[in-house]
Amino acid sequence: MADIEFRGVTKTYPDGTTAVTGLDLRIDAGSFTVFVGPSGCGKTTSMRMINRMITPTAGTITVAGEDISTVNPVRLRLGIGYVIQSGGLLPHRTVLDNVATVPVLRGHTRRAARRAALEVLDRVGLDRVLAQRYPAQLSGGQQQRVGVARALAADPPILLMDEPFSAVDPVVREELQAEMQRLQAELHKTIVFVTHDIDEAIKLGDRLAVFGRGGVLQQYDRPERVLSEPATDFVADFAGRDRGYRGLSFRSADDVVLHEIRTATAAEVSGLHLEAGAWVLVVDAARRPLGWVDVTGVEGVRAGRALGESMSAGGSLFPPGGDLRQALDAAISSPSGTGVAVDESGAVTGGLFATEIIELLARQRAGENADRNRHFFETEDAR
Ligand code: ADP
Repeated sequence: MADIEFRGVTKTYPDGTTAVTGLDLRIDAGSFTVFVGPSGCGKTTSMRMINRMITPTAGTITVAGEDISTVNPVRLRLGIGYVIQSGGLLPHRTVLDNVATVPVLRGHTRRAARRAALEVLDRVGLDRVLAQRYPAQLSGGQQQRVGVARALAADPPILLMDEPFSAVDPVVREELQAEMQRLQAELHKTIVFVTHDIDEAIKLGDRLAVFGRGGVLQQYDRPERVLSEPATDFVADFAGRDRGYRGLSFRSADDVVLHEIRTATAAEVSGLHLEAGAWVLVVDAARRPLGWVDVTGVEGVRAGRALGESMSAGGSLFPPGGDLRQALDAAISSPSGTGVAVDESGAVTGGLFATEIIELLARQRAGENADRNRHFFETEDAR
């Protein structure tokens, strides 16, 4: 089993900087652990000690129970994939040969390695036509996918990822994060992922290790607990003033009520009769939302203005199986105050009210408090 353990690990660089102080941490095999914290607090140093790119000043690190200081570094690294921010691809080799690098090092024939590389490209969602390109001919997001493919090519049990998605734009970044979640659900690697972004950390991690100044571990816990019960003021501050709102992403919105929404197609807008303050959701032929109109918008269309200029852009949409954070955001970002829920195809299924979402949160919390009290009294009785 590819578990990783730090025992009393300290790293002081030759210039006297202590990057990591007395780190004790046990990372379970198959878990997705995120090292998170502000810049300069020892995350990368801690990660690079796992594959012996950096040697600790004190303490021990074991991988699968074996003290890594006794393992040949080359052999150690064959079992540990490594992904870095820039992708770290070799510029003068094709995508295919970049991905085939490690299998070749492991003694596979070039032919077998290339065949395996093509399969890994499929796995990370890259079109095989890209295999013959050079890294500079790919977008940033594609380069990152190749970086992940290369790290996975030799099927190592452990994957180290150092700010892998920091250099790509937010939309591509979300795609890559979703891809990573999908991959991990399939592969069950032991993943250690470094980021300074708390949102990325809570999205991806099943455990967060929050690092603070001087490389001191502040909290090691499930993401929802880091948000709801920060261990130190530093963690509370780092998790942000809106951590209560972030915590909603761990709550189910299954019980939220969907209300009927008044909708109209573009052609119907000019014929609408709206009272002041009322809103109608404009939808396309497949009932996908286009935007909202109120009485001013309808009058604008009648006066010959384009529909696009008369509509208010919609808020975020509430997807199937969405969480309370998505539900509340849909409601409060909507110009009408009603959040729009959609199905898999993007068609409108109903509307959400912010007040009801807050009530649902209150009910969930009351239920949890009742559970906690019951356990408390049961424990008391048992004594
Ligand atoms: P993070 O990944 O959290 O940004 P790092 O592990 O990169 O943090 O760095 C932790 C601290 O160690 C920082 O103060 C950094 O400047 C310092 N540091 C990192 N690498 C070296 C080095 N090779 N020599 C001296 N100091 C270093």
